[in-house]
Amino acid sequence: MKIGIIGTGYVGLVSGACFAESGHQVICVDKDSQKIDKLRQSEIPIYEPGLDELVDRNQREHRLNFSCQIRDICDARPEVIFFTVGTPPKADGSADLSFLFQAAEEVAKYLVAPALLVSKSTVPVGTCRKLWNLLQQKTEIPFEIISNPEFLKEGDAIHDFTKPDRIVVGCQSEQAKQAMTHLYEPFVRTDNPILFVDLESAEMIKYASNAFLAAKISFMNELSQICQATCADIDAVRKGMGFDKRIGHSFMFAGVGYGGSCFPKDVKALAHLAEEKGMSHQLMSAIDEVNERQKNYLAERLAFKFGSDLKGKTIALWGLSFKPKTDDIREAPALTMINRLLKMGATVRATDPVAIENMRQIYPEQVAFSHDQYAVIEGADALVLLTEWAQYRRPDFLKMKAIMRRAVIFDGRNIYQSQAMKALGFEYEGIGKS
Ligand code: NAD
Repeated sequence: MKIGIIGTGYVGLVSGACFAESGHQVICVDKDSQKIDKLRQSEIPIYEPGLDELVDRNQREHRLNFSCQIRDICDARPEVIFFTVGTPPKADGSADLSFLFQAAEEVAKYLVAPALLVSKSTVPVGTCRKLWNLLQQKTEIPFEIISNPEFLKEGDAIHDFTKPDRIVVGCQSEQAKQAMTHLYEPFVRTDNPILFVDLESAEMIKYASNAFLAAKISFMNELSQICQATCADIDAVRKGMGFDKRIGHSFMFAGVGYGGSCFPKDVKALAHLAEEKGMSHQLMSAIDEVNERQKNYLAERLAFKFGSDLKGKTIALWGLSFKPKTDDIREAPALTMINRLLKMGATVRATDPVAIENMRQIYPEQVAFSHDQYAVIEGADALVLLTEWAQYRRPDFLKMKAIMRRAVIFDGRNIYQSQAMKALGFEYEGIGKS
């Protein structure tokens, strides 16, 4: 099949590379010409494990091509065109759909053969139908709009794309069902379902899934505060809850709050959608509020320990990306932490295996970065662990204690054992530990 992909970011590049790997002819387009130039040299503009190999092989074998022009996709007469552009939050919490509508109008302008137009971007319920109404007026060429939300997670994106729990497709025609089945069948060989639903339900499944996962995290974060106040241990509580099959173990870890390009914006957008319809959205708003509070929690603990004037204090951060195995810092808890520390006058040093360059663009002067996790804690008054990268799990504690000015650790992901840390002579504070 010939496939066009518009928006070559985390979702678009992974989707394009995986479809090409399963034998299709794919053109990925992005308006960012620097990104496309890099990709043509098989340089990957994002960090995603395994993606470089896929992109390189499929480009060499001529199944994967890159362009800056949507027109190039239309000229190739693809059967399916995916939209994977960003839908970032606007100031009022609603989703900014301008990239999607702009791209769709351009497709309508250049379309020369019938095509299935598929939104993989996360969009508010009703968007696909709006797109259909708009494009009807812009082109005479037959097309159908499909909603096919994406559920991959950064860091495991290739695994998630090629071994999805389920594929959700909102569409109307038999032809659309057949085409989407043809595309996804290679990835659901273990009988995970391709669910065909209406457009609106497909759009809602994505928002509802993300909001539900975010709710689990906020629930555990709020519970962690109550655990701390009542001398219970959140990790013991988590385990005790998780073995109940109705609850499960995933997304049950208390921490420094969720970040990334999806949960924060999708929870806000769902609340905004409810607001627009005059519906109550207490729970959605609470998920977001609890998360904002949690992102600030460790900064407050630091102020409690050292006072709110941190002039003369050096605070080291381990981990900047919103989670391990990605360089994505969108809405990362590290941003909240750095802003708070700088406001309190601290000297901030930070490290991360892959996200330093993204963070440096935001704090070119204000934060001292190093790729060496020990260099940043040398002479530091405290270490704050924000992202549970594997290399931070079992560091050389004796060396750390010897080089820090004061052996203080705030463990934002509960990856260390409180008793063991105290036995080593650290002043240790985790999340939800008495
Ligand atoms: P991204 O910001 O990484 O990539 C979007 C790309 O689209 C950018 O490179 C941008 O330059 C490009 N673009 C914007 N307008 C364009 C246009 N008119 N023509 C060509 N290119 C254009 O975004 P992302 O993280 O890949 O997310 C894309 C969508 O997928 C969002 O709606 C997001 O909510 C959803 N999603 C993301 C993830 C994730 O983990 N990142 C997972 C599931 C769903």
